[in-house]
Amino acid sequence: MRSEVLKADNLYKSYFQGGERLEILKGASLSLHTDSFVALLGASGSGKSTLLHVLGLLDSLDQGEISFEGKNVSNFSEDKKAKFRLQHLGFVFQFHHLIPELSALENVTLPASMLGRDAKALGRDAKAEAEELLHWVGLKDRMNSFPWQLSGGEQQRVALGRALINRPKILLTDEVTGNLDRPRSLEILDLLARIHAERKTAILSVTHDERLAQSYKSQWRLESGLIVEQNQTI
Ligand code: ADP
Ligand code: MG
Repeated sequence: MRSEVLKADNLYKSYFQGGERLEILKGASLSLHTDSFVALLGASGSGKSTLLHVLGLLDSLDQGEISFEGKNVSNFSEDKKAKFRLQHLGFVFQFHHLIPELSALENVTLPASMLGRDAKALGRDAKAEAEELLHWVGLKDRMNSFPWQLSGGEQQRVALGRALINRPKILLTDEVTGNLDRPRSLEILDLLARIHAERKTAILSVTHDERLAQSYKSQWRLESGLIVEQNQTI
């Protein structure tokens, strides 16, 4: 069944830079459903990353409201926001931000430990699940490798595994193929499509790659601080 997971209403966000107020989001609204697989395009500096940070409760809003499964989450305390992110959201950024001192397996397991899912919580051992995820992203032979021993594409797969370990309802990705060549970008895109289809995860991917964006179910554009839809109603 198609149900709404995330709704953003009338988001406003500005930054102060050199004594000037820079308005980035000017009333942006959007809605993500369980079956959303959306590419978000927009000129460099248009505020795509800002929007993802705000949606992921990593940055504050000036105005507007974000709700998750019908519940307002934008007024949560910082502690509640952190727990909410760990439980329900997955993030992958252009620079994978893996922890260099931890192996691929330990990196993927980390968010589960942070949520207190050590031994057998939720009925599954987090390490076993992390191993399964690394298999799934095609890294079964690289589990004990450290990030610096992996290629850029492999590092992004580990980052995807880490984003999925707590089984988020929503995956937000920001230019994840920005540093990859075409074949590697297509592999990541294929993986995102499988995550969406097989793990029933709503996906919003920021990309400036118009061609990759065409492989998503819908394309949105951030223009003048607003979300403009390309081909389907939000
Ligand atoms: P995009 O991801 O679309 O390239 P961003 O969201 O990164 O755009 O940035 C939008 C604008 O906001 C840019 O002009 C950028 O310089 C500015 N900006 C982003 N983050 C901050 C910040 N923390 N402080 C001040 N200005 C920022
Ligand atoms: Mg950006």
